[in-house]
Amino acid sequence: MSTFKAIVIDKMEVGQTVRLTDFDERDLMDGDVTVAVEYSTLNYKDGLALTGRSPVVRRFPMIAGIDLAGTVKSSSHPAWKEGDKVVLNGWGLGESHLGAYAEVARVKGDWLVRLPSNMSAHEAMAIGTAGYTAMLSVMALERAGVALNAKGAIEVDDYSRSSVANIYAVGDVTDRVNLTPVAIAEGQAFAETVYNDNPTKPDHAGVPSAVFSDPELATVGLTEEAARRAFGAVDVYRTSFRALKHTLSGRSERTMMKLVVERAGGKVVGAHMVGEGAAEIIQGLAVALKAGATKCHFDRTIGIHPTAAEEFVTMRTPVPAPEKQAAE
Ligand SMILES: Cc1cc2nc3c(=O)[nH]c(=O)nc-3n(C[C@H](O)[C@H](O)[C@H](O)COP(=O)(O)OP(=O)(O)OC[C@H]3O[C@@H](n4cnc5c(N)ncnc54)[C@H](O)[C@@H]3O)c2cc1C
Repeated sequence: MSTFKAIVIDKMEVGQTVRLTDFDERDLMDGDVTVAVEYSTLNYKDGLALTGRSPVVRRFPMIAGIDLAGTVKSSSHPAWKEGDKVVLNGWGLGESHLGAYAEVARVKGDWLVRLPSNMSAHEAMAIGTAGYTAMLSVMALERAGVALNAKGAIEVDDYSRSSVANIYAVGDVTDRVNLTPVAIAEGQAFAETVYNDNPTKPDHAGVPSAVFSDPELATVGLTEEAARRAFGAVDVYRTSFRALKHTLSGRSERTMMKLVVERAGGKVVGAHMVGEGAAEIIQGLAVALKAGATKCHFDRTIGIHPTAAEEFVTMRTPVPAPEKQAAE
C-alpha cells in the first residue's frame, strides 16, 4: 500500500474535522497525470474550506489546496511525461476534486500548464493565484473587444457603457474622476440605467476634492484659469488671514480662501481653500455651487461668528483683474 501525507477535511454530523494524515494513493480520484506536489499556496478559498466558514467543499473527504506546482510522477496524457514541471490553478481542486495540500495529486492533464523554464515551483506558488482571476477577466474583456482609450482606461459613453453593448464599466478603470464617491455615484447611475430602466448619467461636474495635508487644501468647481477660459470675464474674491484662535495659540499658520465668479451671471463657479477644516468647509460649499448659487446668495448669507468659513460670505471686493493689473 502506498500512502502520502495530506491535509484532509472530513464532514462530521456537526461541523468538520481537518487532519494532517496518511492518505492511500488508491483513494485518489480519476485523472491521467499523477503529480508530486512541491508547493501550494494559501488562498482565501482554502481558508473558507479549512475553517468550514463557507460551503466551498463539494465532497468529503477532501484534500484542501486549490493550486499546486510540482513534477509529473506518471502520465497517460499525451502532453505530459514523467519529470515535467507543471502548475495547476483551480479546476475545482480542493473543492470538488482532491486538492494540493498533499505530497501527491492525481489530476487531468488538460488542467496542467507547463512551468516556465525560468521559474521555480516555489516562485510559481509564491505568485500563486494572485492576479489570476484579474488576468482571466482582462483576457475575456480583450476577447470581447472592449475598447481602451489612449491612457489604457476602458472607454465608456455618458452612461458608462463600453464599446461592447452589454459591458459597462464604472470607477477608476474608466479614469474619469478617480475618487471613491464618484465610483459609487457611477455605480448608482449604472444601476438606475440598466436595472430601473431609467437612463441616468453620472454627473462629473463640480466634484469637490481635498488634499489631506497640513494645512489642508480643498477645492470645488473651476480654477481661476479654467473659468477665464470658459467664461472670459470672471471676478475673483480672495482673502488670506490668520485664524482668530491663533492670536491665542501664537501659531503663524494662515488660511487662504478664493471664490471665482462668472461675471455675466454672477454665478460662483469655483471655491478654493487652504487651511484648517478646508475639506469640511468646501464640502458644504459644493452643495451651494451644485444648486447654482450666485455671489449675491453668498453675500446675503449670514456667517457664523467666529469661524473661518464666515470669510466665504463676507468677501466683497474682487481682486483686480489681471488685464487691469497689467495696464497699471
Ligand atoms: C493611496 C490612495 C489614497 C486614496 N485616497 C482617497 C481619498 O481619500 N478619497 C477618495 O475619494 N478617493 C481616494 N482614492 C481613490 C479611490 O481609492 C478610488 O477612486 C476608488 O477606490 C475607486 O473605486 P473602484 O471601485 O473603481 O476601484 P477599487 O476600489 O480599486 O476596487 C476595485 C476592486 O476590484 C478588485 N479586482 C480587480 N480585478 C479583479 C478581478 N478580475 N476579479 C475580482 N476582483 C478584482 C480589486 O482587488 C479591488 O478590490 C485613493 C486612492 C489611493 C490609491
